Amino acid sequence: MLRLLQWVEVPTAFKDNLKLKQTSAFDRLARARYLWRMRIVLLGAPGSGKGTQAQRLVTRLGVPQISTGDLLRSAVARGTGYGLRAKAAMEIGQLVVDEIVLGIIRERLAESDAALGYVLDGFPRNLAQAEALASMLASIKQPLDAVVLFEVDYGEIARRIAGRRTCPKCGTIYNVHDAATPGITHCKTCVPPPLLTQRPDDNEQTVTKRLAVYDEQTKPLIAHYRAQGLLRTINAQGSVDDVTARLLQALKIKG
Ligand SMILES: [Zn+2]
Repeated sequence: MLRLLQWVEVPTAFKDNLKLKQTSAFDRLARARYLWRMRIVLLGAPGSGKGTQAQRLVTRLGVPQISTGDLLRSAVARGTGYGLRAKAAMEIGQLVVDEIVLGIIRERLAESDAALGYVLDGFPRNLAQAEALASMLASIKQPLDAVVLFEVDYGEIARRIAGRRTCPKCGTIYNVHDAATPGITHCKTCVPPPLLTQRPDDNEQTVTKRLAVYDEQTKPLIAHYRAQGLLRTINAQGSVDDVTARLLQALKIKG
């Protein structure tokens, strides 16, 4: 009887749920049990807009974004076992080894909000990490459901990053290539308007270097995940809204 009631009630809650930005614990539980669970990796070159879209998926699906950079900082700040090891490595200028990063991800996935899925952003970045991640996820019985590849033109990435300008007073980020702010030089909201500045990393040379690292180390993941039947590819160019629509479509989530 209880089961029958659930079957009758859940689809309605589910339909409304799609339109809600904030989902209730009940909706999330119902959805997870009956409809889907989404464990997603976002894959794409630096500057392809993964971070922005990850935030949108989080809002839509009610699952956490697992960003390894943020996780590391938080584990170090909280002084967890892995956090202390990461801190020790960083203090002597070493890279934090994959084992520590995976340990931190594993701890994060054990928290209750990740039971219904997660959006992993910034990891894995190479084949060794992908394989280590897969065996860790298998050991906690949370294998990936999908890997979404963000396809963008490198010339466009370099152009966009090199066009970024920041207001030193209010922090607003502009782009000299945006249709709304072509060739912008001064902040539009501050009075008197300060001259916008360019971050030292936002130049074509640095971007080209980061893209080369992506090509060499991360790109092999495309074939790796395609062979496993997990890969979905989207065109990540155009407006943020357009890309979100394609992303939801690729994941078969109604917009
Ligand atoms: Zn300003």
